[in-house]
Amino acid sequence: MIRSSNPSQAAIEFAADLFRQARRAVVLTGAGLSTSSGIPDFRSEGTGLWSRDEPLEVASLNTFRIAPERFFHWFRPLASQIFYAQPNPAHFAMSQMEAAGCIQSVITQNIDALHQKAGSKNVIEMHGSMRTLTCTQCYHRVESLPYLSPYVEKGEIPHCPKCDSVLKPDVILFGEQLPQSAWLQAQRDARNCDLMMVAGSSLEVLPVAGLPVQALDRGAHLIIVNNSPTYLNVRADVTILENVADIIPAIAERTLNG
Ligand SMILES: [Zn+2]
Repeated sequence: MIRSSNPSQAAIEFAADLFRQARRAVVLTGAGLSTSSGIPDFRSEGTGLWSRDEPLEVASLNTFRIAPERFFHWFRPLASQIFYAQPNPAHFAMSQMEAAGCIQSVITQNIDALHQKAGSKNVIEMHGSMRTLTCTQCYHRVESLPYLSPYVEKGEIPHCPKCDSVLKPDVILFGEQLPQSAWLQAQRDARNCDLMMVAGSSLEVLPVAGLPVQALDRGAHLIIVNNSPTYLNVRADVTILENVADIIPAIAERTLNG
């Protein structure tokens, strides 16, 4: 009885109702989803990464071109956390909902591939991923796994097996264009969905932060689960200001078994 008077419980049930009624639900995820997997949001002030260096400068395409060793030195703690990270209950809950046909696709701002590790199949990576590296000279692309361990463990900068130039992780740096195919697919899904759930994103990084507006403008419902308010909370059907790792599994449970 206590739980029924809890506003987040009512919100969870309303969110599950929206998922059950939806035909084409998509989810937009951000850094807040992976903090429960131990990966800091490097864009947020107050994280160790921000205080050590200025990400806008060191994680830029320009710095990578001029001084890749600076980028690799800065990126190493984050790469290490990503390398060892495991999906959390929110990742697994979304994967179960996708398998049950309740989620069509996941659009993510994260580069950690934890959605795929949790079993999600249709993942659109807006900021690239750590799974591959591309040569800065000859554009040869390699799987990152054999290179990540020596880099994370010993700080060895990855070099191209063909021409020995520096390999760049296929993550989108500041000053770099979003991958076009991912962006087109994300826009298509946002415009065609009848429900969008934003999970663990503060909707501060454009143009991805504008995707929910494209969904809303075509009549889709909007659920926002994030531990801080976003600019779109006023337009959402449901907002839950709590940790996604607690709330998403509860929504999935109610959607699949409620
Ligand atoms: Zn090369």
